[in-house]
Amino acid sequence: RIVYLNGEYLPEEEAKISIFDRGFVMGDAVYEVTSVLGGKILEFEGHMNRLDRSLSELEMTCDLTRDEWIEIHRELIKRNNIDEGMVYLQVSRGNAGDRDFHYPPEGTPPTVVLYTQAKENLADDPKAKVGIKVISLPDLRWHRRDIKTVQLLYPSMAKMAAEKAGKNDAWFVEDGFVTEGSSNNVYIVKGGKIITRHLSHDILHGITRASLLKFAAESQMEIEERPFTIEEAQNADEAFYTSASAFVMPVVEVDGAAIGDGKVGPVAARLREIYLEESLKAAI
Ligand code: PLP
Repeated sequence: RIVYLNGEYLPEEEAKISIFDRGFVMGDAVYEVTSVLGGKILEFEGHMNRLDRSLSELEMTCDLTRDEWIEIHRELIKRNNIDEGMVYLQVSRGNAGDRDFHYPPEGTPPTVVLYTQAKENLADDPKAKVGIKVISLPDLRWHRRDIKTVQLLYPSMAKMAAEKAGKNDAWFVEDGFVTEGSSNNVYIVKGGKIITRHLSHDILHGITRASLLKFAAESQMEIEERPFTIEEAQNADEAFYTSASAFVMPVVEVDGAAIGDGKVGPVAARLREIYLEESLKAAI
């Protein structure tokens, strides 16, 4: 695989970064993941806008222009022959020399890494036909979840715990309400209405979420942005989650209780179709 590192395209085994890189030592890095379908990038503008916001919230700078970002994405997709898959992008605060809590001096270049991952059955994911099962766990992450940092240890632990319990994923709960999934935004459907937590520092502002709510509104669906509990989810007609890599994924069980009839509901199935159709139209 050919990857991108700080201005160069290299075979992955030749791409090396410093052991003093703050992304490695301090988790001082932000990232984005975009999906590729039919060789085209989905939701490029949205992900780039969020990257800019994550960098600015952490007072990190990276001088690549929008045109350069797109060129790198396209070059990697071409060189690695990606039809379906994803592009991973990470910017860290760079190499500070010795370990130090202070940020490195101004002008220290960030470390920029991009690579592709091919995936089969991304659009035609068999899991989307049967839905997935989740467990709930307390949300033990930090309180700036709106910044997309690489500090993913707790979400990793949560996914492992879900797997150990024989389920697919975890939903996080804080002060009695669901925040989001381990790597996705979550929704319930009750009486035809789509309910999802409002934006704040408590959740990542999903790019898929923003588009999905727009497409749902355009299809005259009713939307309510507010927190909900696990119990409310268990008594909902349907549930689903969204993320750049899974699009719209039906959720059919929470903490052992089937949602609705325990099968993929019509709203989630329809929204997945609409999302794939509309986001593909806008793919670049
Ligand atoms: N919430 C969390 C914690 C995530 O990690 C992700 C995606 O990685 C999302 C939500 C969904 O965001 P997006 O739709 O931009 O992929």
